[in-house]
Amino acid sequence: MSPFTKLVIEKFKNLNPFRKGKKLNSIFRCKCPKCQEGNLFVDSNPYHLKTLDVMPKRCEVCNTDFVRETGFYYGAMMISHAITTIIAVIVHFTVFYFWGWEIAPHLIFLVTIILGLFPVNFRLARAIWINLFVTYDPDYKIKK
Ligand SMILES: [Zn+2]
Repeated sequence: MSPFTKLVIEKFKNLNPFRKGKKLNSIFRCKCPKCQEGNLFVDSNPYHLKTLDVMPKRCEVCNTDFVRETGFYYGAMMISHAITTIIAVIVHFTVFYFWGWEIAPHLIFLVTIILGLFPVNFRLARAIWINLFVTYDPDYKIKK
């Protein structure tokens, strides 16, 4: 590989919004916002509904407190509501304007999509919520 190619690859790695240190990395991988290594949820599969909301009290890697105060994740409901609204608008425009469905199958399809995506939406909302309050710290090991 030529040095120029390596340089270009390095530049694109830095542009990647999902790389380590970025909020999107923590949010979409459901990792601790501080170290981005520890898991935010005990079970990695959101469709195991019994363990959907089970989170460790602290990060197993950097010891960040995941339950910062009583009822901390109530705020995540607002995020969840926003995500649901975005999904509903996208589904509505797709089904109503492009496919031209009637209102009844349209609503059934919409409710099915929203219920089907609920576990993912739930975890995404919590990950976004904690990421609003905790920032990535590349030196977490030194401070620990
Ligand atoms: Zn951590």
